Amino acid sequence: MSNLILALDLEGVLITNAISQFPRPGLRQFLTQCEEVFGHENICIFTKVPERRFRVIASTLVKENNAPRWFENIRYIDWVGEHKDLRFVHDDIEKVIIVDDYPPYIKQTQKHRLIQTQEYKQPYTHAMPDITDKELEFLAEKLKELVLMQ
Ligand SMILES: [Mg+2]
Repeated sequence: MSNLILALDLEGVLITNAISQFPRPGLRQFLTQCEEVFGHENICIFTKVPERRFRVIASTLVKENNAPRWFENIRYIDWVGEHKDLRFVHDDIEKVIIVDDYPPYIKQTQKHRLIQTQEYKQPYTHAMPDITDKELEFLAEKLKELVLMQ
């Protein structure tokens, strides 16, 4: 298992957003793969959604079988400021990988630790979001490669 810490954004990465909360296709499998590579104690949530709201969302995802059990108790990063400073996750930012769909949130000096994903969007209509989205599959592969290269 790697000694890296994986920081995951919530909205636009794992789900559409905190309102509609559509899980991205393959979410459960993705999180399980992340657990195999990083260990769930080394995975955290780095989001602008407040913790209390996040916990409700997480517990719904678990209840509906869209996320593994441990996801409910995942480490939540408390942060302040206009950037997601990786030092909130670990003193040594070289040990952190952040997955986010919005690069401006990441400090310029920490951008090399970012894996950017395409935003998982809620459609403007009441239709379901794209259920053919494969981004989490690609992402799991990318993370595995990255860990192998360490
Ligand atoms: Mg986002």
